[in-house]
Amino acid sequence: MTIKLPNWPPERLVREAVLAWNLRHPGKEFSATSPWPDLCAAVHRFLRHQHSVYDQTLDALAGYDAEVRDELAEAIYQLARAQYPWLRSETDPRPFPKALAVPDLLFDKRSYALSEVHTRISHLESALRDLQHKTGVWDQVHQLRAELSELRQIAREEFKALTQTVPQSYAHSTTYVRRKERAYYYGGLALPESYTCYAGFRCSACDMAVMQTKRAVPVGQGRRWLVFSCGCTSYAVAPAPAGYRLEPVTAAFWAQLRLEHEQDAESGLA
Ligand SMILES: [Zn+2]
Repeated sequence: MTIKLPNWPPERLVREAVLAWNLRHPGKEFSATSPWPDLCAAVHRFLRHQHSVYDQTLDALAGYDAEVRDELAEAIYQLARAQYPWLRSETDPRPFPKALAVPDLLFDKRSYALSEVHTRISHLESALRDLQHKTGVWDQVHQLRAELSELRQIAREEFKALTQTVPQSYAHSTTYVRRKERAYYYGGLALPESYTCYAGFRCSACDMAVMQTKRAVPVGQGRRWLVFSCGCTSYAVAPAPAGYRLEPVTAAFWAQLRLEHEQDAESGLA
């Protein structure tokens, strides 16, 4: 029997173990700050059930065999301790080193967010597979299924948006409304002033001058777009392909843009 445990940093392994547990045990949730012995046990359980042949092996036995079960569990436990030296219930290894930083650029950020959605989707699918054998969990199953179908829809749309590299029209754009800060935001790019110019009007909401990049700038995932920004709203738009003109960005356009995307404020990118 070969078991290959995932080669993940501690932060991710704990985060996913917590997620796996919480989806299966509503009302008894853990968090990354829960007592270490509990978390450590949750990680071992996660590795055993979600990342090894433990369940399949026991299911394939003709009958229940406690001895086989214990031996298998012990083998996986020892393997995990060998692979993750920090995974010891006696010593709390937290805080963990920071996981990879979230990328800065607009589309790199979106692509990263999409990968997080896919992680959650696979956890939901796995939890639903386990819960379908249980009784009295109808509400929970119903809730997880609803979330799963919502996330699949989001993932499909976002994938389409992210992989559509050739703009279909001048309308290929994205808007980002912020409520708290009053600062220019050019899709995550730190731009010297000489790269931007006044767009010709002020924002009626934050009263800051609306600025625009003089030319298309990198916004992640290989794209170069024009970016407009005031203190509360940013608007990135693909340069117009041949035969199209960009819709003029005016004070009225800006007010409308802000209005349309206001409800997405704080949730990140619209
Ligand atoms: Zn504004």
